[in-house]
Amino acid sequence: MRGRVAELREYGRPVEIAEYEVPAPEPGGLVVKVEQAAICGSDLHIWRGETAANPVSPSRMGFGHEGFGRIVALGSGTHSDDAGVPLAEGDRVVHHVMASHVGRGPDPNVEREYGRHPYFHTTFADFYYIGATRPVYRVPDELDDDVLPPVNCAMGAALNSLMAGGTTFGSKVIIFGAGGLGLTAAALAKDMGAETVIVVDRIAARLALARRFGADVCLDSSVLTEAADRIDFVKEHTGGRGPDVAIEVAGRAELLPEGLEMLARHGTFVEVGLFYPGPTAPLDPSVVLSGRKRIVGSAGYPPHLLPLLLQFLVRTADRYPFADMVSHRFALADINDALSASDWDKQGASVTRAVLNP
Ligand SMILES: [Zn+2]
Repeated sequence: MRGRVAELREYGRPVEIAEYEVPAPEPGGLVVKVEQAAICGSDLHIWRGETAANPVSPSRMGFGHEGFGRIVALGSGTHSDDAGVPLAEGDRVVHHVMASHVGRGPDPNVEREYGRHPYFHTTFADFYYIGATRPVYRVPDELDDDVLPPVNCAMGAALNSLMAGGTTFGSKVIIFGAGGLGLTAAALAKDMGAETVIVVDRIAARLALARRFGADVCLDSSVLTEAADRIDFVKEHTGGRGPDVAIEVAGRAELLPEGLEMLARHGTFVEVGLFYPGPTAPLDPSVVLSGRKRIVGSAGYPPHLLPLLLQFLVRTADRYPFADMVSHRFALADINDALSASDWDKQGASVTRAVLNP
């Protein structure tokens, strides 16, 4: 069996499509046909060569990590997912974006290098090879395909950030950024019992979508252009004391001092959006001390959150329009159009999530 892989050969240049033989699954492993793959902000950073972890030259590197597939081959001894749910060919599954050291099979191999030979470890491809050490979970039959692409990255990261901030019943939460991560965080925060969810963005269409994802209050930073006015606005909508949790998913360094200033005493600022080095912001540390505030970083998520997220989607299917987060669709062969359309620095607002349907 052969399949196509989208390969990055030079940063910032068009991606090429290559074809390779798909490896047979190892014991405990499985191979899925990629059904939908979403383009994540980090894929754009990898494409442009901006992440600290990038190799000097990408030379024939596959990429893409968000998405889900349908099982086409099960390795010997692969009978169930990481939650013990039986697996069969034809089932839809989501995989964890990172390999784990805990294997399902009798002979867990060391995970192959991301994007390299023998390929099929990236979602911008026809197939995805899931080794015995990579956590995988069966998708409940009632879930629509269109709600699934962001589960194994954006949704996991959003839930982890809310948990890192200590979000609980009655919390007041502010979310900076109404892209895929921010919208997901708004819906999850409401589901966790947050009393007030405030979403901040500078694009009105995104804020309108945020309302549908559970935001109680929207702050348009293109209208309230001064930090002091935004801080007053947020205090007003949180009983004068400020939010308990601030989630930064816009990737803007200046939100750290602003978010800390807004926070209630003992509040927590969670940094999620700035995962590449460079941007800095001035900070008065006494704000942290006098308010007993915390700054924490949140990246990724533990695998056991995946089945919880799938159940969340089942439970809230009539409440939040997760399928509407997919704004653009492309064939794998048109990946370069998909990358350009998602390139937010140039295009701005119109793309929430572009998906590839190989
Ligand atoms: Zn991602």
